[in-house]
Amino acid sequence: MVSRVVFGRGSFNQLGDIISPKRKNIKAPFIFLVDDVFKGNSWLTSRIPLAYNDQLLYISAKEEPKTSQVDELVEQIILSHKDRPSGIIGIGGGTILDLAKAVAILITNEGEAKKYQGWDLVKSPAIYHVGIPTISGTGAEVSRTTVLTGPEKKLGINSDYTPFDQVILDPELAKDVPKDQWFYTGMDCYIHCIESLNGTYLNAFSQSYGEKAYQLCLEIFVEDNLTEEDSQDKLMMASWHGGMSIAYSQVGVAHAMSYGLSYLLGTKHGIGNCIVFDHLEEFYPDGVKLFKEMKQKHKIKLPQGLCDNLSDEEFDIMIDVALSLEPLWINAVGKNWKQIITRDKLKGLYQKM
Ligand code: NAD
Ligand code: ZN
Repeated sequence: MVSRVVFGRGSFNQLGDIISPKRKNIKAPFIFLVDDVFKGNSWLTSRIPLAYNDQLLYISAKEEPKTSQVDELVEQIILSHKDRPSGIIGIGGGTILDLAKAVAILITNEGEAKKYQGWDLVKSPAIYHVGIPTISGTGAEVSRTTVLTGPEKKLGINSDYTPFDQVILDPELAKDVPKDQWFYTGMDCYIHCIESLNGTYLNAFSQSYGEKAYQLCLEIFVEDNLTEEDSQDKLMMASWHGGMSIAYSQVGVAHAMSYGLSYLLGTKHGIGNCIVFDHLEEFYPDGVKLFKEMKQKHKIKLPQGLCDNLSDEEFDIMIDVALSLEPLWINAVGKNWKQIITRDKLKGLYQKM
């Protein structure tokens, strides 16, 4: 679990006080990985407490993190500083938070990032790392994984060293998120709840967090009578609880199939989950019905025809990626999932998207 967390509007101002005791010496820098959407935004950047040899790297969130990108960042950081950094601070959405976690791990673990994709393959503790979400929904701020696309697979580095040492939850940072993106990333949280609460892996731990996150999602996306600030505050906590819920269970059909879309077409996680989930009535009837209502209420138009021009080989690639995620299918449909989830079944679903 994340060992320390602060919550509150404006708590970002405490960043300097929080990290300064963690500085090893004046030559060991803090490295700030910041979403480049904030470049030139002095409201945020003027509060980043740079000192001594600290380095700020702006990173695009256009594409999801890759293992090769992690390797390049680590090399760049090692080559630019004589001393090992004091810490890595990620400021952004799931993309930047995952990069920050992965870089912190790869600074102390030799070899390439792809080597650690899987479960509990990391040998040495990561360096100190801090996560500061600027958009809410993925739960990446709280999870024990960092999802990376590698040469062979899209798979997380799941380990006890992955979670942040410190998280700063300042809902004010999410104030300029565009409406569509707010919905897509917010729905990632909603889908985490549906998949966790309707899964065979469900247990009291996951259920307690999942139910809370689900209830917050209803307040935010269905009842919709909150002030903007309350809505931001609550979505940040929904994301946290949704992340905690899947930490001790699993996700399901939407995630398995959206990993296929992401691997082949580069479709991003939030929107990809929405595109898939829209067609999953058969697996999650109530969850999908409510999803469609929320989509309509917030006037969200999802892209159509994504798979219209794909070849059989391309469908096969997506199907292989989806089928490889066995725990997700066991969670979603049970131990006998292979009898229900055939290649034809998945192809039929992809063809609708
Ligand atoms: P993201 O980080 O990709 O960002 C989405 C868009 O929102 C980007 O264009 C970004 O620049 C913009 N943005 C972010 N904050 C903003 C702000 N305050 N104002 C304006 N624009 C802002 O989106 P995401 O949905 O948070 O993250 C998706 C990623 O998270 C995927 O790579 C996915 O694999 C990963 N993920 C990880 C976990 C985990 O447990 N580690 C869980 C779910 C998803
Ligand atoms: Zn997700």
